[in-house]
Amino acid sequence: MFQMSHSMVDMTPHPQTWLKTTPSGLYCEPGGFYIDPLRPVERAVISHAHADHARPGHKAVLATEGTLAIMRTRMGTEAAGGAQQVLGYGERLRLGDVTITLHPAGHVLGSAQIAMEYQGARAIVSGDYKRQPDPTCAPFEVVPCDVFVTEATFGLPVFQHPEAEDEIGRLLASVAMFADRTHVVGCYALGKCQRLIAELRRAGYDKPIYLHGAHLPVCETYRALGVDLGELLLATVAAKSALKGAIVLAPPSAIADRWARRLEDPVVCMASGWMRIRQRAKAGGVELPLIISDHADWNGLLATIREVGAPEIWVTHGGEEALIHAATRLQIRARALRLIGYGDEDA
Ligand SMILES: [Zn+2]
Ligand SMILES: [Zn+2]
Repeated sequence: MFQMSHSMVDMTPHPQTWLKTTPSGLYCEPGGFYIDPLRPVERAVISHAHADHARPGHKAVLATEGTLAIMRTRMGTEAAGGAQQVLGYGERLRLGDVTITLHPAGHVLGSAQIAMEYQGARAIVSGDYKRQPDPTCAPFEVVPCDVFVTEATFGLPVFQHPEAEDEIGRLLASVAMFADRTHVVGCYALGKCQRLIAELRRAGYDKPIYLHGAHLPVCETYRALGVDLGELLLATVAAKSALKGAIVLAPPSAIADRWARRLEDPVVCMASGWMRIRQRAKAGGVELPLIISDHADWNGLLATIREVGAPEIWVTHGGEEALIHAATRLQIRARALRLIGYGDEDA
């Protein structure tokens, strides 16, 4: 099935009877596990390695190989989970009375939608996701379900992300025009940084790319998992002359402070879906805003809820109200899941 027909509704327990909101996060009762729990639990299934979803100290963690590898890099092997179990995309696993499968979410390397089947109904928790192509991770997979739990980080019609390729083109045009200045691009360390590098390489940029020290470890993990990023050098140890005309990637917190002032007449850039909001770029002292996001934009959210075909969606972090309103107009039942503790990495 996986679209509860009316005749089956009586026999099939609705996912809201077994997938529950708790102070620790979403709990799948018949499976005995939490999804992206906010505090340490016995058994966690983790959608991806961003800090708001992957927290340290769980007794047992189930996730993709990529997610577990990045968690170990960021928090150390021990904190990443007492028992760490890898589940590959599409592999079926029984946990308690639930069958679980992971499907690519297209968000960052290793990111997965978590699908749960229980007594004839399938619920999917998307985690964070995007629909734009990303050379560093597997594309979002559309999986039909009865309940789709969606994020809504950019759940307002104003958020329309242009093609990443075009934004990279704007960055490279600026680099060509201001050949004596250093372009410092604010981006978070997991996902955005590696995607920018890979997009620059795809656009033919083959010079070394310089990194803030905070960005190196996850890049090394991506490489170990088979993502080619070309030559990367640490900006902190580079001669100031070498940074003339170069591209430097750094955490958003570093681009406007003393760290960036050491660079050669820096052009401050920022890669984020929030750069759609002009005041936001201005307030952050951003000279070249790049609208590049690892979250679905408004149209991506709407396309996704249509394509998965679920008669019902639950909406988490972001623009819940607008998305619920739009879903209702598409004859999809929708409700807000008031989960606190999740946010956007560069909000
Ligand atoms: Zn995320
Ligand atoms: Zn998130």
